[in-house]
Amino acid sequence: MDEFDDIVDLISDFLGEPKRVYEHQSQVSWDCPVCDEGRRKGNLEVNVEKSVFHCWSCGDSEGTHGPLGKLFDLYGNKKQKKLYEVFRPEAFKPKEKKYIKLKLPDDFKLFKDVNPIHPVRRQAYNYLQSRGITDDIIEKYKIGFCGTGDHAGRIIVPSYDSFGKLNYYIARSWYPNTESKYKNPEAEKDKIIFNESLINWNQDIYLVEGVFDGFFVPNSIPMLGKHMSVLLFETIYQKAMGNIIICLDADAWPNSVKLFHELNGGGLYGKIKVIKLPGESDIADLRGEIKDEYFYDMQ
Ligand SMILES: [Zn+2]
Repeated sequence: MDEFDDIVDLISDFLGEPKRVYEHQSQVSWDCPVCDEGRRKGNLEVNVEKSVFHCWSCGDSEGTHGPLGKLFDLYGNKKQKKLYEVFRPEAFKPKEKKYIKLKLPDDFKLFKDVNPIHPVRRQAYNYLQSRGITDDIIEKYKIGFCGTGDHAGRIIVPSYDSFGKLNYYIARSWYPNTESKYKNPEAEKDKIIFNESLINWNQDIYLVEGVFDGFFVPNSIPMLGKHMSVLLFETIYQKAMGNIIICLDADAWPNSVKLFHELNGGGLYGKIKVIKLPGESDIADLRGEIKDEYFYDMQ
C-alpha cells in the first residue's frame, strides 16, 4: 500500500485534481479553495510526508496553512478525515534512510543577540560592511555568525522553504586567507530553492549565482552555482508570472547564454532577459547597480 498515493487521492476527493505532483519531495499542489477563483494557479502546496499545507498566495493573510488535518477539517468530510487518520504519515518512515534533520551550527548567533562591542561580532559585522551588506539585509535574511565551534569565523546565511522550515545554509569564512571559503551542510543544494520563502513569484525574478549576489538584487534566486537545478527549472516554469532576468557573474557569460535558451520557451517565451556584466564583475561587486546598457539583446 502506498500511503502517499492514498493521501493524494483523499485530498483530490474534495480539492479536485492536483495541479502538480512531486512524489520525490512528497509535495503536491492544488488550486487554493480560498484564493484561486478558477485561475488554476495551484498555489496550495501540501507536503504529505511532513503533514503540512500552505497556500503561498493567501497563506499568511487568510490563515490557509497548518497541519494537514486542518485542511481535512476545513474542506473534507468526516469519512475523509477518518481515512486520513489511518493513512497519515506518522505511520510511515521517510523513504530516504539516512535522513538527518538539518539544523544551524550549534554556536550560531544572530547579530541582534550579541553585544555590538563583542570583538568577534565586530569582526563579523565589519566583514559584512566591507561587502556592502547593511543592517536591513542582515535582518531580512536572518544572517548570523559563529564565533566558536566548528564553524568559528563564518558568516551564516540560512535558507527557509515556503513553509518556513530551514532547508540549507551557507557558511562563509570572513578570513581572507582561509583554506575553505565555504563550509556548507551536506544537504543536497539541488533539492532546495534558496530562501524560497522570500520569493514573490508574481513579480520579475533575478537569477544570480551566489547568496551574496542575491542580497543586492530584488526578488532574486541564488542558484548556488552557475547551473540551474532541475527543481528550480521546473518551479520557475510553473510558478513564475513575471520576467526572468539572468544575472550571472561576468565570467559565466556562456552559462548565461545557455540558460537563456533553456528557459526561453513555452509559457516563458519572450520573458527571459539577460544581463552581461562588465569586466570581471559580479552583481555583489556592483552593489546591485544594473545599468540599462548591461541588458544584452539576444535577438
Ligand atoms: Zn490561497
